Order: sequence, then C-alpha cells, then structure tokens
Amino acid sequence: MAKVKGEIQIDIEKCKGCELCIEACPQDALERSRKVNNKGYLYIVKVKDECTGCTNCALVCPEGGVTVYRKIEGKKEREEVAKLSNIKEDTEIKVG
Ligand code: SF4
Ligand code: SF4
Repeated sequence: MAKVKGEIQIDIEKCKGCELCIEACPQDALERSRKVNNKGYLYIVKVKDECTGCTNCALVCPEGGVTVYRKIEGKKEREEVAKLSNIKEDTEIKVG
C-alpha cells in the first residue's frame, strides 16, 4: 500500500501559542518556538518529519492557523486535506 506522508503549514502570525496542537499531535511533531511572532506569542514549529497528515492539529487550532496536506510517497502533488481559515465564518474541512 502506498505510504501517505503529511505536511503542515503554520501561519505563525495567527498562532497564540495555546499548545492545543502540541497536545493533539500523536506523532509529537510540534513544539513551541523560542521566537515570538509580531503579537508576542511563542508560535509553533514542526520539529519532526513524522507527520501523517492526521489533521488533528488543524482541527483543534482555535485560530485557524494550520493547514494540513497529504502526499502519497513518490508523487509530486500534495493534496490539501484540512484548512480552517476562520472557525466561525469560513470553516473548510475536507478529510479523506
Ligand atoms: S497533521 Fe497530525 S501528525 Fe501531522 S503535525 Fe498535525 S497532528 Fe501531528
Ligand atoms: S493550536 Fe493554533 S494557536 Fe494554538 S499553538 Fe497550535 S497553531 Fe498556535
């Protein structure tokens, strides 16, 4: 079976450092940065390349700051599977 690999993109300026995504990640792939964003929050960074694209981090982020992609190993294209741009008005979740 083809191996699925995940990728995430974090909008560091949206991040408030609440750490919900760290708690939700089954791969322990996320940690707080030592740097702050423009609002003064220690934002989140990916520290391991173990992401499976499970989407947990995007689903729990109250700021809609995480986008998750999945890619089949060996293929060039990546598919956007979870993007929460605004939890109240513009929630777009596609999992599968
Ligand atoms: S998609 Fe899942 S495995 Fe990847 S960083 Fe987010 S919570 Fe962790
Ligand atoms: S859940 Fe969102 S706001 Fe909270 S630390 Fe993670 S990326 Fe930042």
